Amino acid sequence: MQTITVLGATGSIGLSTLDVVNRHPDRYRVFALTGNQQYKQLIDLAKQCAARYVVIADESYYPQAIEYAGEVSLGADVLTGSLALQQVASAAEVDCVMAAIVGAAGLLPTLAAVKAGKRVLLANKESLVMSGELFMQAVIDHNATLLPIDSEHNAIFQCLPQDFTRAQLTDSGISNILLTGSGGPFLHIQESELVSVTPQQACAHPNWEMGRKISVDSATMMNKGLEFIEACWLFGLQADDIKVVLHPQSVIHSMVQYIDGSVIAQMGNPDMRTPIAYGLAYPHRIHAGVDALDFSSISAFTFDKPCPQRYPNLYLAIDAFKHGQYATTALNAANEVAVDAFLAEQIKFTDIASINESVLNSIEPVQLTSIQDVIEFDAQARSVARRILTGIMA
Ligand code: NAD
Ligand code: MG
Repeated sequence: MQTITVLGATGSIGLSTLDVVNRHPDRYRVFALTGNQQYKQLIDLAKQCAARYVVIADESYYPQAIEYAGEVSLGADVLTGSLALQQVASAAEVDCVMAAIVGAAGLLPTLAAVKAGKRVLLANKESLVMSGELFMQAVIDHNATLLPIDSEHNAIFQCLPQDFTRAQLTDSGISNILLTGSGGPFLHIQESELVSVTPQQACAHPNWEMGRKISVDSATMMNKGLEFIEACWLFGLQADDIKVVLHPQSVIHSMVQYIDGSVIAQMGNPDMRTPIAYGLAYPHRIHAGVDALDFSSISAFTFDKPCPQRYPNLYLAIDAFKHGQYATTALNAANEVAVDAFLAEQIKFTDIASINESVLNSIEPVQLTSIQDVIEFDAQARSVARRILTGIMA
């Protein structure tokens, strides 16, 4: 029996996690669920799975959350604030933490789980993009088990040799990693039309149901850029070890190419419950509620190269990785500010890349040697991004 905390339980990954967990009451018990503002949904979920704690991260919703918990006779303690997120991620009773908060807000709670030596199921890619080496060093120092949930990284993990440890590419006979991406909803529209696409269109991903931020990131392919950086840190890779391949069907979730000519691919229907179940039960396999892949209904697998004019954000991210930690921390911060503004209809879709690029051009290289440095630099990059944003909106 594993005891689990789900950070970001009210989101797309959080709900998929609870779906898998609830299929296996003999294997998993829920310790805590967290959300940001959706207190009713959070409390209803906590009641269904008999969680012991709920954390409503946004303190302004705490009074309403307490009142609602009383109305429904919730048998769990209701906590609030960022410290409480870290507490439920690191509590002694917890074996496993699903890190599924979106964005930089996930950094400290995810790291708290790592530092408590938990089994950490990493969906929150932004925390690794922000703090790369510091994060991976914390995993080693605190003997945590880090399992990738992002479908591509989960696929790569499944396709690597069993005994693979970071930075052993050539020793393991691997020639490169093929990171696949669908190209999002704007793969086929005229590039000149990108300037006028709406948040609703950007969030309508052809294959995956996801939160709004990652949906926009998928449409710009910043998501693939963040995943490129995530893969480098998770598996100890250099930028040249990874090739990004467009695969619009989203059935192959990524591949590993070996020096003897073999390519191992992981496939499945595009449903996050597969990588979540793999992470939860690793090294075993459990039912995830996902339909078996029906090859008779797949007419073709197609592949292509992502075009830099259509997807400038992907190339900004690869470039930022080559520049170092400060650049990926700044890019992640700029992108969060820009995507929020696009979702609030304050800027155009194509302004996202302009803001990201301007922030990267405005910052000076700096060594980030502690998490405090990362947090301060993230705040600095956000204020540069907001200044540029104000200029665009004027
Ligand atoms: P989502 O927007 O659906 O859910 C986000 C969750 O984070 C919610 O529970 C929300 O309450 C919580 N949250 C938001 N802001 C917060 C804050 N400031 N403090 C505390 N909690 C906060 O997002 P999602 O699609 O579930 O994605 C979650 C993470 O998983 C992201 O990092 C995303 O990149 C990654 N991911 C998602 C998918 C997917 O299919 N959805 C796939 C791979 C990776
Ligand atoms: Mg992914």
